[in-house]
Amino acid sequence: MNWQRKLAAGDVVLLDGGTGSELRRRGVPMSAAAWSGLAAHTHPEVLLRIHRDYIDAGADVIVANTFGCSRFVLEAAGFGERFEAINRRAVELAIEARRLSGKHSDAVAVAGSLSNLPPNMDVRQHPPPHRAATDLNEQAQLLAAAGVDIIALEMMQDTRHAALAMAAALATGLPVWLGVSARLRAPTRLTSFDFPHIDFADVLDALIPMRPDVVNVMHTELDAVAAAIDAVGERFAGPIGAYPEVPYQTTPIWRNDPAGTADEFAAQAEDWIAHGARLVGGCCGTTPRHIAALHNALRRVAHRSP
Ligand SMILES: [Zn+2]
Repeated sequence: MNWQRKLAAGDVVLLDGGTGSELRRRGVPMSAAAWSGLAAHTHPEVLLRIHRDYIDAGADVIVANTFGCSRFVLEAAGFGERFEAINRRAVELAIEARRLSGKHSDAVAVAGSLSNLPPNMDVRQHPPPHRAATDLNEQAQLLAAAGVDIIALEMMQDTRHAALAMAAALATGLPVWLGVSARLRAPTRLTSFDFPHIDFADVLDALIPMRPDVVNVMHTELDAVAAAIDAVGERFAGPIGAYPEVPYQTTPIWRNDPAGTADEFAAQAEDWIAHGARLVGGCCGTTPRHIAALHNALRRVAHRSP
């Protein structure tokens, strides 16, 4: 596919931006139990539009809205019996957006998001390992059957639960993108995003030996991205990506000047690329404007290189 050819040719692959945060920005209420996981069922037209806007902005890969769609999360949200329908619909909407955009199926890849998000975003509600493994395998196989081109693991930030998700992704036989989330706790101390007691290095050392195809530094604050890419690069010879978040919780982006914010974001991507990133995009808080700005920035980078 296009993203694989670009990597082989030494070009930078453009990913999409935030989907859950973008649904929220466009007025879709988030579920306390499943975050944006119900949107394919409750607001399919908004989700379709978001995917189309990211493709129009130039994304080579879009991520289906299945981050909060494991059976154990949807059950907690009261939608357990719709598990299969919601996952299938989420993938269909991404594929439909590609079709409506007029792009060849080879040009824009659809990744299925797989996370170990606990119900209600509460780590005390993680299911026991055998249940988690069963449900994550079920979801990974369903995403593959629904037609995704890639399994994108997102917010892997521990060694136990993340390893179960990773095994489920690998069992599909599809390319596996390992998405890890880091936070800078001190000038040189990287931990996982949500857990101060988990060293980022330990997460990498647990998951990278399982042999993902790509490792993405994602859902990570901008100040930690370069250090996190360096930490991945010390352990992984394959392609590294970066799709950080922007501070949308404290500074709602829609109150800022979107163009200025997007251009500032895109300017930072040159630093990620200098550190070795070969795939770039955005996570929470980024919008189609951010991806369009990245698209322009990548053109400038390509022009400068010999
Ligand atoms: Zn995010």
